[in-house]
Amino acid sequence: MAGVEIEEWAAARPRSQASPKIELRTAALGRGVFATEAVAAGEVLIALAHVFVAAAEQYTIQIDEDRHQAGTGEIDDFLNHCCEPSAALDVERLCFVAVRPLAPGDEITFNYLTSEWDMAEAFTCRCGADRCFGNIRGFRHLSRAQQDSLAPSITPFLRRKRASGLPSAA
Ligand SMILES: [Zn+2]
Repeated sequence: MAGVEIEEWAAARPRSQASPKIELRTAALGRGVFATEAVAAGEVLIALAHVFVAAAEQYTIQIDEDRHQAGTGEIDDFLNHCCEPSAALDVERLCFVAVRPLAPGDEITFNYLTSEWDMAEAFTCRCGADRCFGNIRGFRHLSRAQQDSLAPSITPFLRRKRASGLPSAA
């Protein structure tokens, strides 16, 4: 079975659903989500609950201007940020998918800058990636060059925000 069989799920999920191949762990630096067995690129890792709030909070995930997937206390609240993440948000299906093959023990991470326009709680990233963005405050705070480097992985909402900030072609 390839991860989570998302198609069989009800259109509106009252709760998040996690692949049986991942688990929440508590490490020295806090909680995180880790693979417990091999995962193929593209596999669904977590299908998010269809629970939304209008404003950004600590655990929300931005879907649209005034629409954020709510922090629900479920496993998706504990996906840590990484500037070179192992998972990406699929907004259309409202789920996280693996962006590369994962081995047991690999952490499931997500680049918050690919969904969040202006974060409720900024922090300093120490992920150690070559292109670590450092101060993580939201897409709007990035330089144009940084925004351009992330363009292939940002959500449709951020794509619209970015386009509206570009100089007109005329
Ligand atoms: Zn980083």
